[in-house]
Amino acid sequence: MKRDKVAPQRGLKHIPQRTCVFCREVKPKRQLVRVVYSAGGMAEVDVSGKKPGRGAYVCRSPGCWGKGLSKGRLEHALRGKIDPENWLKVVEFGTGFCSEAQSQLTQAVEVE
Ligand SMILES: [Zn+2]
Repeated sequence: MKRDKVAPQRGLKHIPQRTCVFCREVKPKRQLVRVVYSAGGMAEVDVSGKKPGRGAYVCRSPGCWGKGLSKGRLEHALRGKIDPENWLKVVEFGTGFCSEAQSQLTQAVEVE
């Protein structure tokens, strides 16, 4: 009798998973947006996902960029201080970017 062991699924590519700092959901990296904390002590939204520095991830969902996302939480994830002006820019950019990404994402899902 064969035992049903948890075998790795064949033909399935390994997709990097990251956790959203806001909702704590683990998602494929592509569905998240990276916030990077640069050596200069500034946080910024890293659309390319390739900038050097410590990164944190937030869903590409306007909901996760909303009021509930606190500066403290992102600072904790990035292990650095973000000044209020910098914080506003990050949130503003992230919210705008994710509103756009959301519609693109919906279309992409429909194509699949
Ligand atoms: Zn989220």
